[in-house]
Amino acid sequence: MSICIKDQIQNMNLVIGCTVGCPYCYARNNTRRYHIIDDFEKPQFFQGKLRMMEKKKPQNFLLTGMSDLSGWHEEWREEVFKR
Ligand code: SF4
Repeated sequence: MSICIKDQIQNMNLVIGCTVGCPYCYARNNTRRYHIIDDFEKPQFFQGKLRMMEKKKPQNFLLTGMSDLSGWHEEWREEVFKR
Protein backbone atom coordinates (compact mmCIF):
# COMPACT_ATOMS: atom_id res chain seq x y z
CA MET A 1 0.00 0.00 0.00
CA SER A 2 1.32 3.42 -0.85
CA ILE A 3 0.31 6.72 0.69
CA CYS A 4 0.65 10.04 -1.07
CA ILE A 5 2.35 12.43 1.35
CA LYS A 6 0.50 15.37 -0.20
CA ASP A 7 -2.75 13.87 1.11
CA GLN A 8 -1.34 13.87 4.64
CA ILE A 9 -0.16 17.47 4.80
CA GLN A 10 -2.14 20.71 4.61
CA ASN A 11 0.02 23.35 2.95
CA MET A 12 -1.05 26.63 4.50
CA ASN A 13 1.27 29.31 3.13
CA LEU A 14 0.46 31.49 6.13
CA VAL A 15 3.40 33.69 5.27
CA ILE A 16 4.41 34.42 1.72
CA GLY A 17 7.75 36.01 1.09
CA CYS A 18 11.30 35.50 2.22
CA THR A 19 14.49 37.46 2.66
CA VAL A 20 16.97 34.58 2.41
CA GLY A 21 17.47 34.88 -1.34
CA CYS A 22 18.16 31.32 -2.53
CA PRO A 23 18.74 31.46 -6.29
CA TYR A 24 16.70 28.28 -6.90
CA CYS A 25 13.60 29.43 -4.97
CA TYR A 26 10.44 28.17 -6.67
CA ALA A 27 8.26 30.13 -4.22
CA ARG A 28 9.73 33.44 -5.40
CA ASN A 29 9.27 32.41 -9.02
CA ASN A 30 5.63 31.40 -8.44
CA THR A 31 4.91 34.55 -6.45
CA ARG A 32 6.19 36.73 -9.24
CA ARG A 33 4.58 34.68 -11.99
CA TYR A 34 1.12 34.75 -10.40
CA HIS A 35 1.50 38.21 -8.76
CA ILE A 36 0.60 36.76 -5.34
CA ILE A 37 2.23 39.63 -3.42
CA ASP A 38 4.01 42.74 -4.66
CA ASP A 39 7.47 42.10 -3.21
CA PHE A 40 8.64 38.59 -2.28
CA GLU A 41 11.49 40.08 -0.22
CA LYS A 42 8.88 41.61 2.14
CA PRO A 43 7.08 38.64 3.76
CA GLN A 44 3.36 39.05 4.41
CA PHE A 45 1.25 37.22 7.00
CA PHE A 46 -2.18 35.96 5.90
CA GLN A 47 -3.86 35.61 9.27
CA GLY A 48 -7.21 34.58 7.79
CA LYS A 49 -5.68 31.29 6.65
CA LEU A 50 -5.45 30.21 10.31
CA ARG A 51 -9.07 29.08 9.90
CA MET A 52 -7.66 26.04 8.09
CA MET A 53 -6.42 24.81 11.48
CA GLU A 54 -9.93 24.63 12.90
CA LYS A 55 -10.78 21.20 11.49
CA LYS A 56 -11.73 18.53 14.02
CA LYS A 57 -9.63 15.87 12.32
CA PRO A 58 -5.95 16.00 13.36
CA GLN A 59 -3.75 17.17 10.54
CA ASN A 60 -0.16 17.93 9.69
CA PHE A 61 0.48 21.47 8.55
CA LEU A 62 3.24 22.75 6.32
CA LEU A 63 3.82 26.29 7.51
CA THR A 64 6.77 27.42 5.44
CA GLY A 65 6.03 26.35 1.89
CA MET A 66 6.54 29.90 0.60
CA SER A 67 8.60 31.47 3.36
CA ASP A 68 11.32 30.77 5.90
CA LEU A 69 10.63 30.82 9.62
CA SER A 70 13.61 33.14 10.12
CA GLY A 71 11.68 35.87 8.30
CA TRP A 72 8.50 35.58 10.34
CA HIS A 73 7.79 38.46 12.72
CA GLU A 74 7.60 37.43 16.37
CA GLU A 75 3.91 38.36 16.62
CA TRP A 76 3.14 36.09 13.64
CA ARG A 77 4.86 33.17 15.36
CA GLU A 78 2.98 33.82 18.59
CA GLU A 79 -0.33 33.92 16.75
CA VAL A 80 0.34 30.65 14.92
CA PHE A 81 1.92 28.61 17.69
CA LYS A 82 -0.59 29.48 20.43
CA ARG A 83 -3.05 27.25 18.53
S1 SF4 B 1 11.51 30.49 0.64
FE1 SF4 B 1 13.04 28.89 1.01
S2 SF4 B 1 13.99 28.50 -0.98
FE2 SF4 B 1 12.91 30.48 -1.12
S3 SF4 B 1 14.49 32.03 -0.65
FE3 SF4 B 1 13.42 31.51 1.26
S4 SF4 B 1 14.66 29.90 2.24
FE4 SF4 B 1 15.27 30.03 0.05
